[in-house]
Amino acid sequence: MRRSIVALATVAMALPGLAQPPAEAKTDTNPFFMEWETPFGMAPFEKIRAEHFLPAFEAGIAERRKEVEAIASNPAAPTFANTVEALEVGGTALSKVSNVFYTLVGAETNDELQAITKKVAPSLSALRDDMMLDEKLFARVKAVWEKRETSSLTPEQKRLVEETFKDFVRGGANLAPETRKRFREVNQELSLLGIRFGDNLLKETNGYRLVIEKKSDLAGLPPGVVAAAADAAKAAKLDGKWVFTLQYPSIWPFLTFSENRELRRQLLTAYSTRCDKGDESDNKALLAKMAALRAERAKLLGFATWADFVLDDNMAKTPARVYELLDRVWKPALEVAKADAKELEKALQADVPGAKLEPWDWHYYAEKVRKARFDLDDQELRPYFPLDRVREGAFSVANRLYGITFTERKDVPKYHAEVSTYEVKDADGTFLALFTTDYHPRAGKRGGAWCGRLRGQWVKDGKDVRPIVTNVMNFTRPAGDAPALLSLDEVETLFHEFGHALHGMLSRVTYRSMAGVPRDFVELPSQIMENWALEPTVLAGYAKHWKTNEPIPAALVEKIGKSSLYGQGFATVEYTAASYLDMNWHTLAEPKVEDATAYEKAALAKIGLIPEILPRYRSPYFSHIFGGGGGYSAGYYSYLWSEVLDSDAFDAFKEKGIFDPATATSFRRNVLEKGGTADAMTLYRAFRGREPSVQPLLVKRGLAPAAPPAPPASK
Ligand SMILES: [Zn+2]
Repeated sequence: MRRSIVALATVAMALPGLAQPPAEAKTDTNPFFMEWETPFGMAPFEKIRAEHFLPAFEAGIAERRKEVEAIASNPAAPTFANTVEALEVGGTALSKVSNVFYTLVGAETNDELQAITKKVAPSLSALRDDMMLDEKLFARVKAVWEKRETSSLTPEQKRLVEETFKDFVRGGANLAPETRKRFREVNQELSLLGIRFGDNLLKETNGYRLVIEKKSDLAGLPPGVVAAAADAAKAAKLDGKWVFTLQYPSIWPFLTFSENRELRRQLLTAYSTRCDKGDESDNKALLAKMAALRAERAKLLGFATWADFVLDDNMAKTPARVYELLDRVWKPALEVAKADAKELEKALQADVPGAKLEPWDWHYYAEKVRKARFDLDDQELRPYFPLDRVREGAFSVANRLYGITFTERKDVPKYHAEVSTYEVKDADGTFLALFTTDYHPRAGKRGGAWCGRLRGQWVKDGKDVRPIVTNVMNFTRPAGDAPALLSLDEVETLFHEFGHALHGMLSRVTYRSMAGVPRDFVELPSQIMENWALEPTVLAGYAKHWKTNEPIPAALVEKIGKSSLYGQGFATVEYTAASYLDMNWHTLAEPKVEDATAYEKAALAKIGLIPEILPRYRSPYFSHIFGGGGGYSAGYYSYLWSEVLDSDAFDAFKEKGIFDPATATSFRRNVLEKGGTADAMTLYRAFRGREPSVQPLLVKRGLAPAAPPAPPASK
């Protein structure tokens, strides 16, 4: 993920309401004020308590403000070293606390931490604004930027100068004095609205449960799903009952297998109406406000819309190019989905004569049709995907491609008992990174799957600081006497997030902020890994039955391959619909939306979304674009954009062999190690020798024929 140079390192004002930090925090028991004498310098989690964070943030922000002030008022003429580099390498104390704090806020949060996010956000936003809008500082950055061509800078240093300058301009440095106050207000408000959005969503997701009391209501559910629901009931002190929740490993298997149509309706409705019930957790007014504030912010900076502002810094560059890609897949995908809907409705009517297909029927009948057509059943696969085996499979792919090795370490501090830690070494045995995994859902974890970090990679005083990278997921828990058995989807997710992790672990940049890449490039390293997950030769190596250790039967692998296109219409439609929705919210020049529901409806009607399919996220729970920092706003299309790249890039491997050493080395050196040290398209061309083609993506999704159409007969 691209991180703004200054946001990461960030500035110092007293945190609101905390002019006097608690006395205890001032003493030397706060771990954030000490050196960490732990293995690999990992955060000493067992010593960190909630009350340590605010004082650490306050001190980190104060330190950063001091550094920035010293740089801005330096009497010496501005140089790369005393200005741009000095800004870049500072903010150490703030990074130290931020990395730990935001890791926990995602993976292991509680009310205390959530309250701290609200106190810290305005201070961080003010710090950033104070830096960006500091005229003395900007004048120095600009002076270095103007001389960048004539200075003797390395290519990475020159890039750092350009990115820093751009960051200031995008952060408001060129704003007229009379608009600066409003600009700051907008930033402050946006930072808080995003947090409230996420709070509401977490509350609504955790606040619902479907309690089943009669065994007959479990009809159709596989034993593993029933066992997990019984475990969940036990944990909720409802022994003898079964509990289903809105967390992924619970809701999706239920919707796929439950024969009880009414319960499917209840569960999906609870999911799709989150934060949309007109009560105090409703997110609609909040998100409309965010869209309006973003549009205002973009305008202040001279852009027509928020999307124009965001995309200017991405590979796509303009909204038009995003729409062009979405349109290209939308029409053929919708046709496939419509044909599928007809077939599914027929299957439904065999059960319920005259019934109309509804969104809560889709997964259930799609699974039935898939089973009938390909004789493939997701539950038949799970026994071959015990979590540990799949993880080892991912490690072994990385080993074959890049020669790197993984060794579990039990002596490293962790923030939860379910975290595992691995020492990662390069082919020659040198230390590369520490990698942690945290795979199962908990009440304090947000939904989804992501890759984060507890330490970034950079070169400090000539010494390579190696990173600490995290993978956090919400995978099916072990149930009964079986280990955690993953669905095919979860297997792909594991490889996906591991791909992000490789990008972080293999990084070789000099400056921390240069590790970041544009949003629509960042999914290339992750999505490309999904390709290896399902290659028959790779599957044969890791997919082994948890009980018998039998490798997955070749016939089953063949079925996976044959059925891989089934459901692509649905998947493409639900994803692309959400991407359109995102773009619609962020291409409004004057977004005064009174009724978010009506607005969403109109946006989806415009593209002709069929009522049997919901967009992958509806606006009130679209946390990619509205939650937290809203990192994917005007950016949800990125997955598809990156898929153009990863499909085309994987073709390069297929041409030479999927473990071809030269191709792997080229991918590592030109893409994975490079971070954002060069323009993304330049990096891609260095690997592929040309720009990417959209064709491999269309073929992979079954939206275009595999071979190019035969040339017309010559006359
Ligand atoms: Zn990703």
